[in-house]
Amino acid sequence: MKFGTKAIHSGLEPDPATGAIMTPIYQTSTYVQDGVGKNKGYEYSRTLNPTRHALEKNLAAIENGKFGACFGSGLAAIDCVIKMLNPGDEVISTNDLYGGSYRIFTTIFEKYGIKFHFVPMHNTKTIEEKINDNTKLIWIETPTNPMMNIIDVKAVATIAKKNNVLLAVDNTFATPYLQNPLDLGADIVMHSATKYLGGHSDVVMGALVVNDEKIAKEIYRIQNSSGAVCGPQDAFLVLRGIKTLHLRMQRHCENGKIIAEFLAAHPKVEKVYWPGFTSHPNHTVAKAQMRDFGGMISFSLKGNKLEDALNIVTKLQLFALAESLGGVESLIGHPATMTHAAIPKVEREKIGIVDSLIRLSVGVEDADDLLTDLNNALN
Ligand SMILES: *Cc1c(COP(=O)(O)O)cnc(C)c1O
Repeated sequence: MKFGTKAIHSGLEPDPATGAIMTPIYQTSTYVQDGVGKNKGYEYSRTLNPTRHALEKNLAAIENGKFGACFGSGLAAIDCVIKMLNPGDEVISTNDLYGGSYRIFTTIFEKYGIKFHFVPMHNTKTIEEKINDNTKLIWIETPTNPMMNIIDVKAVATIAKKNNVLLAVDNTFATPYLQNPLDLGADIVMHSATKYLGGHSDVVMGALVVNDEKIAKEIYRIQNSSGAVCGPQDAFLVLRGIKTLHLRMQRHCENGKIIAEFLAAHPKVEKVYWPGFTSHPNHTVAKAQMRDFGGMISFSLKGNKLEDALNIVTKLQLFALAESLGGVESLIGHPATMTHAAIPKVEREKIGIVDSLIRLSVGVEDADDLLTDLNNALN
């Protein structure tokens, strides 16, 4: 079955009680049992809820995995992955990383005795240098946020397998429509469903998808024991969002290309970061592991002045100034003062987050209107 068909049909059946074609929002905490130990597959909604269950099956299908698990946020999903580790274990992570992931690793899990190494990964040698007997997990994000670096998932998976280390990929930016890390050799795929999967900026949710039954059991054990599950209403919203994921992503990609090319040709723009350009340092890897290049773009300004960036960001009419990404509406962010403000300026600039860097989440509006808006703000 192809992607769009799976997105619309996988995991979903007409409601057995009524025939309702849409999975109902099973807003219930518990389930009446036929007798002691005799139930219809559901006992308590922290453990399993039918609306969430349908979404978990659907997500597994679109990521080409066997098991899905949904959480109250993307960070709750990351929390679950790290809880599979023990004190003394070590993790090697990308250095160009979602700020919240960096925060949970360093301010929550380091104090429980888990050690994190942050290395650049566009050259996989940096990973091999850090691997030792305590290494249990490699954590990668590709494309990265906000520099749009691409990491070769297959190459990292080979290193992980050789050293008997788990590989987890944060696939939030690419979505399962553009990239399927399990097919490339990863063990765990993580999503902030808040972004493209939900797609309408109306829900906060996270998800994990795996193939291995042992890993899945461990994830379900932690999901049930720690209890960071999503509610049925949110599961319903994300199920609805996924039905149009392929359509939305097609338009995000089309608009992304138009806007990246417009920016690259604009005299006020210094540099555009978008993996679709043949000049992008990892374009070949992006082309091999992704189906298209997405709607996330970062760019810097000539002269690199903070006030110029802030001016543009506030002058835009259609691009709304906000954290987050992946919704149908276009958003704009300023990493140095928003998402990455917690990173010291010198550190920030080492990875390219200069004062004039602007990040766009290109929506699915009409490209002409988006271009007019950008052109007016830039001029
Ligand atoms: C938003 C985001 C997260 C965190 O997800 P929440 O749903 O906000 O908890 C993790 N990784 C990436 C790449 C994200 O964009």
